[in-house]
Amino acid sequence: MPDPAVRCRFAPSPTGYLHLGGARTALFNWLTARHHGGQMLLRIEDTDADRSQPELVDLIFRTLTWLGIDWDGEVVHQSSRGEAHRAAVGRLLDEGRAYWCSCTRDEIDARAKERGGKPGYDGHCRDRGLGPDPTHVVRFRVPDDGETVVRDLIRGDVHFANHELEDFVVQRSNGHPMFVMANAVDDIDMAITHVIRGEDLLPATPKINLIRAGLGEATTPVFAHLPLIVNEKRQKLSKRRDDVAVEDYQARGFLPEAMRNYLATLGWGPPDGVEIRPIEEIVALFRLEDVTKSSAFFDVKKLEAFNGEYIRALGLGDFVERSLPFLTTAFAPGPGMVLDEDTFVAIAPHVQERVRVLGEIPEMVEFLFREISVDGDAWAKTMEKDPALAVQMLDAAIDLLAALPDWTATAINDAVIGYADAREISRKKAQAPVRVAITGRTVGPPLWESMEVLGRDRSLERLREARAQLPA
Ligand code: GLU
Ligand code: ZN
Repeated sequence: MPDPAVRCRFAPSPTGYLHLGGARTALFNWLTARHHGGQMLLRIEDTDADRSQPELVDLIFRTLTWLGIDWDGEVVHQSSRGEAHRAAVGRLLDEGRAYWCSCTRDEIDARAKERGGKPGYDGHCRDRGLGPDPTHVVRFRVPDDGETVVRDLIRGDVHFANHELEDFVVQRSNGHPMFVMANAVDDIDMAITHVIRGEDLLPATPKINLIRAGLGEATTPVFAHLPLIVNEKRQKLSKRRDDVAVEDYQARGFLPEAMRNYLATLGWGPPDGVEIRPIEEIVALFRLEDVTKSSAFFDVKKLEAFNGEYIRALGLGDFVERSLPFLTTAFAPGPGMVLDEDTFVAIAPHVQERVRVLGEIPEMVEFLFREISVDGDAWAKTMEKDPALAVQMLDAAIDLLAALPDWTATAINDAVIGYADAREISRKKAQAPVRVAITGRTVGPPLWESMEVLGRDRSLERLREARAQLPA
């Protein structure tokens, strides 16, 4: 049911490109906000000044925009909210919910060793009445008893025993807030109702709820911790091992609509099981309650299949327009290189049927725009394997095609295939040497259409060139 009071936010830390997990988080926030007719906000968590770079923030904006994930209102930069964070820490201190601590890591570890108990902070400074100092951190006073409950739409209520949580740091000795502090304060001030993010942040959530309560907030937002995204080995996607940057998928020629549609299925599925569908339908059907707890497999083959479907559904003009940047990149002007748009338009319907990503296109149509260099493997598999047949087919094709009244794919097909059929040569074997002569490869768009587009003169020239390299 629509609920315009819903306020979601995507809160990336700009420490790298936008990865698949981040994009999925952004999308699920966006779907929730749009489903309810609420607000989708964007907050850049850039307090980690050394690692946050303005170019990376820009890249996040561009990638979200590319995916068609828009946001409402001004972007909040966490780094500009230092005063609000310090004031909130001040309030916790005033109310005795937090205290100054002078302990060094070594001191903490040494005491833990002495205790023989769990490593971690022991509350040493709780009642020492320390004040501010450039070496002091501020710690939250976690209640010794009871529990903190995180209400999660996906996981149900998750209980954390307070005695398991140490008195955690909320402000570093340099005066900067810790992640949990800034995050809690910003969500309060932005009146966020739904916190949707990766499950790796679940352990931070009880701390955030304690901070909220400590600041006198009567409510907590609804949480939804999204399942991990894993590779085919069921390992968490990793920057080092897997292709995780959304911009790389953009560069390979995935369509943003296909990418967005596929990302929506990572942990969620519509009740009727129809996964490929217009975004408006996904917005209407999406419910956080239907997100699974179990990890989501990022299946690049399935993404490619989605993309192929989206490509085939494009109008021809749209397909050409989206393909051209890939062609102009691959076929930079230079000697022997003519990228002629009309030629591409002529072959485009056949290409559109066959590609899964736009990045495959240049290789497929290269023979139209450049003098071919025959792939060694392709030559060996066709011309060298059966030179007699290759010679026979090339000679026949040259004679028949030179004499064709009309240069059309159908006429070319009828001539060459008619010749092969009459001599009981398999059509596949008959075509192979012609294809290699024309395109330099064994696979590509349909051959007769390719030859029609290439034109009679250039086709005959290539057939003769190939023939000249074979025994007389
Ligand atoms: N900035 C945090 C991160 O990128 C996410 C914070 C949140 O969504 O609450 O991991
Ligand atoms: Zn201490």
